[in-house]
Amino acid sequence: MTLLCVPILVPGFQKAITDAQEARLLGAELVEFRVDHVFHGEDDAEGAALVQRLVNESPLPCIVTCRPTFEGGDYDGDDASRISLYESLGCASAPDHPPRYIDVELQTLQRSANLKQKVHLAVDHPAQLRDLATSLILSHHDFNGRPASLHKALSEMRMEPAAKVLKIAYRARSLRDNIELFEMLLERDRPMIALAMGEFGLMSRVLAPKFGGFLTFASLRDTSTTAPGQPTVRELVDLYRFRSINSSTAVYGVIGWPVAHSRSPQLHNAGFEAVGHNGVYLPLPIPAEWEHFKATLASLLDFPPLSFRGASVTIPHKEHLLRFAREDTSRKWIIDPLAERAGAANTLVVRNDGSCAALNTDIPAVVLPLRQSLGNLTGMRVGIVGAGGVARAAAVGLLDAGANVVIHNRTSERAQTLVEELRRSTGAGSDRLATAPLSSLATSGTHALVNATPVGMTGGPEPEGTPIPNDILRQLAAASERSPAVVMDTVYTPRETPLIKQSRVLGVTAITGDEMFLHQAAAQFEAWTGSRAPVTLFRRVLDETLASAGYPHPNSEE
Ligand code: NAP
Repeated sequence: MTLLCVPILVPGFQKAITDAQEARLLGAELVEFRVDHVFHGEDDAEGAALVQRLVNESPLPCIVTCRPTFEGGDYDGDDASRISLYESLGCASAPDHPPRYIDVELQTLQRSANLKQKVHLAVDHPAQLRDLATSLILSHHDFNGRPASLHKALSEMRMEPAAKVLKIAYRARSLRDNIELFEMLLERDRPMIALAMGEFGLMSRVLAPKFGGFLTFASLRDTSTTAPGQPTVRELVDLYRFRSINSSTAVYGVIGWPVAHSRSPQLHNAGFEAVGHNGVYLPLPIPAEWEHFKATLASLLDFPPLSFRGASVTIPHKEHLLRFAREDTSRKWIIDPLAERAGAANTLVVRNDGSCAALNTDIPAVVLPLRQSLGNLTGMRVGIVGAGGVARAAAVGLLDAGANVVIHNRTSERAQTLVEELRRSTGAGSDRLATAPLSSLATSGTHALVNATPVGMTGGPEPEGTPIPNDILRQLAAASERSPAVVMDTVYTPRETPLIKQSRVLGVTAITGDEMFLHQAAAQFEAWTGSRAPVTLFRRVLDETLASAGYPHPNSEE
């Protein structure tokens, strides 16, 4: 079993003990007391006594680490003093509650034979004559990136018989750096900790149980700004279901840049639990360029022990997924005809035999809510505001459903280009697909309107704005051949955009942007698991995550 360890940068005795108690309540098995703030070296009897008290009163088995500045810590005293501290904590004459582990750096051991001997005196190992219960974690860290001498360091660590556990930790520069750590875990000769730091390293922390890692670290409180990639205990246990991850767990995620804001992990992980699917869903950040996407996706697909079974693909990689599917000759691909027509795919499915599919679930996700409101869309006239990726997906889906589509975009040339491309890819004629200025909406008898711009989105170009001026919206409501007209927003942060609010005021049927999000996620879930998506659960989880981010449900009493 992979242990869950909470690192505590000891600020003082009481706070450290309170944190350790909280860690125990949350289900951690170990705490690591980082004592380099409170122990200062040779003459620091007070610091040594504090550390001793911590160890004595720790509510959980503990690792004691006094990390020197040369390996990223705060301790700038002499090495002999901190090793003497370790020895005094662990030796048989100490009280009956020794640290379970001390963490000593490979560099320290290599500094002198004397230091090495002192470390040997402090821990249990095959040649130890004394009865000690403290074991050695031998560690190697690199805070800048994957160390060039990684393999040399690992083989030197393996030559150290006193090391009970080996620890390698380095800053990941891309998701690919996790794969090498997983390989090390699979080839371990003794218990091993192999973790990547930074935003690309979350995968190594969550998937440690899949590869037999000795432990993973999780923080008590959100440290995403100071230690990106380090999950909290709650995230690890509740969101990523760390306790249920094993060697057979299938891995999924959301590929995008950025992805930290994505709500998809909340939905899909809860869904996997609800249907009993042995899977975990992670944020998978890949920088925007095609080369990054291509190299990273290939490395995930080419590492079978990862059991990488699929991904949601979001901005800016939807076109990249389609390109990858077309160009990749290493495996069999099925490309969804709708994705082909839209020129973009948002869903990767990887089957057990290694074959893959690129789908576009955004397309049915726009059509479905409109169909629920309007019924059969054949012959309906639908306006789309915007000419970007979502507008393209909406147009392809609506044409496929038999609707007639008019693109209204701020930049008319872009609207024209989109229309020409879609006429080519879908075969739609000018009677079914056209471009027009927004003002024409008022008199065109449009049945429904889709906002596919970021206008109204928090953090977007016009958070207080509406993509359709109120007077035009009013005329649309009056002129619609079918009453009431329908307005669908694709923006869902907030759910109640100015457009949605104004539509409700005018008696227009309003479809909020979370509908599209839910339906595209449900279709992905079904493609991966073969199980019906628990849409009610998805809705509740999305409501909760949006509410906790400050976007309450319109019907909420809060
Ligand atoms: P995109 O490719 O960047 O296209 C954005 C479109 O919006 C462009 O046509 C742009 O017009 C137009 N636009 C931007 N700012 C504008 C403004 N201030 N006034 C008028 N038009 C403006 O974006 P996208 O990928 O299509 O995404 C569009 C929106 O869809 C996103 O902002 C997001 O809120 C929403 N979305 C929702 C979901 C969901 O699941 N609900 C999923 C993805 C996206 P120009 O051509 O003139 O620049």
